[in-house]
Amino acid sequence: MAIVKEKQVNGVITKCDLPACEYSANPYTGCEHACKYCYACFMKRFTGHEEKWGDFVDVKFWQPIKKPAKYAGKELFIGSVTDPYQPIEEKYGRTRALLEELQGSGVKLSISTKSDLILRDLDLIKTFPNARVSWSINTLNEKFRSDMDNGASIIRRLAAMKTFHDAGVHTTCFISPIFPEITDVKAIVKQVKTHCNLIWLENLNLRGAFKSAVMDYIETNYSALLPLYADVYRKGNDTYWQFLDEELQMFAKEQNLEYKINDDKFTRPFNSPPVMVNFFYHSKIKKSAAKSKI
Ligand code: SF4
Repeated sequence: MAIVKEKQVNGVITKCDLPACEYSANPYTGCEHACKYCYACFMKRFTGHEEKWGDFVDVKFWQPIKKPAKYAGKELFIGSVTDPYQPIEEKYGRTRALLEELQGSGVKLSISTKSDLILRDLDLIKTFPNARVSWSINTLNEKFRSDMDNGASIIRRLAAMKTFHDAGVHTTCFISPIFPEITDVKAIVKQVKTHCNLIWLENLNLRGAFKSAVMDYIETNYSALLPLYADVYRKGNDTYWQFLDEELQMFAKEQNLEYKINDDKFTRPFNSPPVMVNFFYHSKIKKSAAKSKI
């Protein structure tokens, strides 16, 4: 059970320097999903919390958003450093409160989650023009999933994605982070390709404080893969990703799916097959992949 604190803040929307959005909003600080590889755990140092990442959540109460219409046409990413639909949202509804404040503003909404609690807000989200919802799925193996995160089961994430897609909301399957030789990207793509518009691919990056925890996990649970992980994450060898990139390009071709490199600025008709977009070590791989472009 996470330690929960309520916190008064001035605002919840901030300028954002992520490539795909202009603003971000995080209705909570901290995340009960406690992913072993959480890229957002650096946030802990700004909170004053002694508990480990995943064991605390600050619930934000903000001043009313002044003139929501000023965000019309702007990209707003909800959930850049927390999951806006982690379990505590069921009690506090701060993400829903944010959506209600922004309804009718014309903002371009993008939400990322590992939960199906978002189904509660489907009718509300549908009212936002061009809203996009993404689910992170990096395995179909429930044991590995539960070793890695406290989010909803994969079956529930897939079902939620399908429900949103059937309702006409743009959906993304974010295959991230890809664990070498553990994440079966092709199997996931085959599962989701009929109910998402985009498939984003991102490799596991172990630069953070969680590197030793993940390496220890591999040593204990997938010891045969330890030499590969040592090569990739201790020696910094990118060859694995280059081969995987080439293999996935061929796979995309077999599946009649478009494959792009590091490109999030394109649109397709809603009912088109999803586009696979590779966000591996962007600049390095871009060059080699561009040579063998499909
Ligand atoms: S769901 Fe996202 S923010 Fe939450 S712990 Fe996992 S990676 Fe971190």
